[in-house]
Amino acid sequence: MATMRSNYIWFDGRLVPWEEAQVHVTAHALHYGSSVFEGIRAYATPRGPAVFCLREHLARLYASCKIFRMDLPYSPEDLAKAVLETVRANGHAACYIRPLVFRGAGSLGVDPRACPVHTVLITFEWGSYLGEGVLEKGVDVAVSSWRRAAPDTAATMAKIGGQYVNSQFMVVEAREGGFTEAIALDAYGYLSEGSGENLFVVKDGVVYTPPLAAAILPGITRRCVLQLARDLGIPVQEQPLLREALYVADEAFFTGTAAEITPIRSVDRIPVGDGRPGPITKRLQEEFFGITSGRLEDRHGWLTPVNP
Ligand code: PMP
Repeated sequence: MATMRSNYIWFDGRLVPWEEAQVHVTAHALHYGSSVFEGIRAYATPRGPAVFCLREHLARLYASCKIFRMDLPYSPEDLAKAVLETVRANGHAACYIRPLVFRGAGSLGVDPRACPVHTVLITFEWGSYLGEGVLEKGVDVAVSSWRRAAPDTAATMAKIGGQYVNSQFMVVEAREGGFTEAIALDAYGYLSEGSGENLFVVKDGVVYTPPLAAAILPGITRRCVLQLARDLGIPVQEQPLLREALYVADEAFFTGTAAEITPIRSVDRIPVGDGRPGPITKRLQEEFFGITSGRLEDRHGWLTPVNP
């Protein structure tokens, strides 16, 4: 994995050198997880870098802020311009983009409202999230002993920093157990998602994925993959799924900005299908990477070129 580094970070409206993007140790977010964030990718295309689903990611960022009662002092259009400006300033051919809105120093009472809201945009080059070669080989995963929060415990539609403690529990337990990633069940025992990915299961030619009510983040890649499947005439179903559906699946895969489309080759040491990425997973990967690389037509308008 490349070192996380670039020249500039956009911090409250201006580009500052990477080393100077600092916060005080009393920042509220550091103590109580009072932040919301996004993860976006810019892909290398023949026309230069292009940001994937920029509008959709910023819409989710604003939704997260609204749910968490944080006022962002920028319009989505201004923030979109700032994203493009940061990628340009850092000279990336392709990169990961991390917008973060957080409560800074002001008070250490739990009520965050006395603390100022800061906005940063961090960009850096990031390869395959779950390891080298996983897009071809797939990953070995385990169902976690940690569950996703009940619907009235957290706000899973929002990408809130503090909620990622649950994801950290999951991924650390999985890695300690020799797996690459974990899959959580929701509070009722139905399949939910990975620590940082949405989950898909393929059976008898149908693509299944848990619904939003299964405590999942409304993934942007999830939405794109559902669209691509429909484009290809593959039936899709958003419905509650049982854990054992993974054991008898023909194929399974994760989606996410960082993980892209990562095949799952085993769950709890039980091979998924024959233990190799299946034809529907590969077909969706082909379509997804075809569009993100600029090889296929961007028929849904998902790419925003960084250089006008
Ligand atoms: N679920 C969780 C918990 C995540 O952190 C992510 C990554 N943002 C996803 C799903 C996938 O969402 P997206 O496709 O929008 O990156």
